[in-house]
Amino acid sequence: MIITRFAPSPTGLLHVGNLRTAILNWLWARAKGGHFLLRIDDTDAARSQERFVDAIRGDLAWLGLTPDGEERQSHRLDAYEARFEALRAAGRVYPCYETPQELDLRRKILLGRGLPPIYDRAALSLSDAARAAFEAEGRRPHWRFRLDETRAIAWGDHIRGQQRFDPATLSDPVVRRADGSWLYLLPSVIDDIDMGITDVVRGEDHVSNTAAQIQMFEALGASPPAFAHAALLTGGEGKLSKRLGSLGVAHFREQGIEPQAIVALLARIGTSDPVEPFADPAPLIANFDFTRFGRAPARFDEQELTALNARIVHQLDHAAVAGRLPVGMDAVAWEAVRPNVVRVADAADWWAVIEGPVALPDELSPDDRAYCATAAATAATLDWTGDPWHALTAALKDATGRKGKPLFLPLRLALTGRAHGPDMAALLPLIGRERALERLSLVASR
Ligand code: GLU
Repeated sequence: MIITRFAPSPTGLLHVGNLRTAILNWLWARAKGGHFLLRIDDTDAARSQERFVDAIRGDLAWLGLTPDGEERQSHRLDAYEARFEALRAAGRVYPCYETPQELDLRRKILLGRGLPPIYDRAALSLSDAARAAFEAEGRRPHWRFRLDETRAIAWGDHIRGQQRFDPATLSDPVVRRADGSWLYLLPSVIDDIDMGITDVVRGEDHVSNTAAQIQMFEALGASPPAFAHAALLTGGEGKLSKRLGSLGVAHFREQGIEPQAIVALLARIGTSDPVEPFADPAPLIANFDFTRFGRAPARFDEQELTALNARIVHQLDHAAVAGRLPVGMDAVAWEAVRPNVVRVADAADWWAVIEGPVALPDELSPDDRAYCATAAATAATLDWTGDPWHALTAALKDATGRKGKPLFLPLRLALTGRAHGPDMAALLPLIGRERALERLSLVASR
């Protein structure tokens, strides 16, 4: 069974790149009938906050990405300690005493010589006496994972295809800080093993982490999961801009974006499949496949999201939006205005038009005002229970000889105060006889 995990660090709010990672993990698990886990990567106690954990859960719930389970790294420290001890006994993690300044200086020297800034493993050749001297000075070691340079690293990435890394081109990664706290790399591998993760789906900024982590899986006697590294998102400006990094669910909700629009867009950008307005994710799940993903950065465009949102809102039935509509706006009214809204909240504007008062149009000529007087008189004689708009316009066509725009537009302007809007045949019964007569007569009397 496929098991994926979305593993955010609760050090901030999820941004659109994180949301995409969550969506891809969820889609892959759902497409395969597998499990999708939420894993809270909260080993950094100083920067992790409970309010961000709550926000992450809330964001997933709002998007409809229901996890099949939740795990927390801060509850698993004993498991990390035990594996760490085993790796230490096997010589795969080793203590290092360099200060950040010393490391920085060495990096600069290597770069100055035109060499890659790879950690030189000086700590591996420290004598016991040298180590004891550092300890006596009060230095505590941080720990690195020792890569095995004799084992080439390779994996078949779901998106990037065959990947190869020469371990000699990588620094032994730091896995534990001097204060004993964990960096994410090793706990993540231990979790992936213990939770039976079969597929790690994340952004391509993690590709070199994957190279190091593959050796950690092997060092812990496990076979690595499959990997899918998605190309990063870019904003309009090219790079994953600051703006993208700050766009999250709160912003989208404020903009009236439906969760389905976010899922539909982020599931498809960067793939060879078209972005389509799926109000229900079933077709997205059914067609989901990493082979459709390209290697080029995927462009995230808020205008595309807004346009997609409108197309999704146009499919939502009254029951799906009732709680967000003005009091009294029933299914008939929602369906009348729905084609003319981009956001559900826009329905309130049209409800105000139905309820009135409406702004008096000033673009009506004396002729059109006289026409509205005729319309008011005609409307008073109509049967309003059927289709008053067609009855009214048919009668006026006969009586005045008007047709097309001169027939319809003055009526729309008088009845709604606007030149454009929902189908008048749907709107007029909602405005109703009394308000319609009042609006037409008011225009006529000006
Ligand atoms: N906590 C890591 C991150 O947010 C997880 C990466 C991963 O999916 O392994 O970058």
